[in-house]
Amino acid sequence: MPEPGRIFKVLRCPYCHSKLIDSPGDSLSCTTCNEKYLIQEGVPLMLSSSKQVELKKKISEWHDSEVMPGFLSYDTIQRLKSPAPFKWFKRQRVLKKIYDEMSLEGIYIDVGGTGELDHPAIFCANLEYGPHTQLVCDGQFLPFEDGSVDGVFIMLVLEHVPDPFAITNEIKRVLKKGGFVVATVPFMQVLHENPKDYFRFTPDGIRRLFDGLDEKKLEIASGPTGSLIWILKEYGALLCPFSNNRLIYASVRELLGWILYPLILLDYYLLTKRRAEKMSSYFFYMGRK
Ligand SMILES: [Zn+2]
Repeated sequence: MPEPGRIFKVLRCPYCHSKLIDSPGDSLSCTTCNEKYLIQEGVPLMLSSSKQVELKKKISEWHDSEVMPGFLSYDTIQRLKSPAPFKWFKRQRVLKKIYDEMSLEGIYIDVGGTGELDHPAIFCANLEYGPHTQLVCDGQFLPFEDGSVDGVFIMLVLEHVPDPFAITNEIKRVLKKGGFVVATVPFMQVLHENPKDYFRFTPDGIRRLFDGLDEKKLEIASGPTGSLIWILKEYGALLCPFSNNRLIYASVRELLGWILYPLILLDYYLLTKRRAEKMSSYFFYMGRK
């Protein structure tokens, strides 16, 4: 985890990109539009006050709509859940290579992050305050000056935002010349609303999203068997009688998830195939400004 204070040096107003000044009572104020941003337990909340009100309402609606049997604790549910029906075999290797090139003095942002990227220079930014959040912001209004960020990670997030182009345009704006973006982007995945699910992306669609950057890599992260397992477990649950009951649906789905998961090893073989991208679960993209 990076030293939290470092982020304050580069923060700007997310809406007009002007400088911010410290105001008494732990907040930052924009020198141009007078918007005030609270700092909550050391975490800057870089959203306008109207956006915060709107978001609070939305987040409580999202949480209310979560499909969870009420009599089981959250931890029990997590233990019963089958593994995520996809696997990025090269994840560690790919990330290590990127981490090795990063400077500890640089500013790197994980947009929509939940603390999975563990590197001392990556700041975890999310729309919602969580245990790993170091910056609360909206990806469509990144609180940085043009050309001030060394790298941006956006991992399996773009399908969950209503306007992915608005976010990738913001990323391009804040990146320094030579700065990088690393993205994982889903293609063949079952609808997964956590909390909302809007889009899927083909390789050409991903290129369009990051148009203007120099493409360094665009490859399969998780292959066709990941897609198939996910489809089969949901399909099996749908076929099951009485699966309009959400507990029956979830139980059959998770049971099938456990049974089918070992098939994921087939992706080691399928990833050697030229046409594996036709039904891959998700892609990995890296580009430089
Ligand atoms: Zn402003």
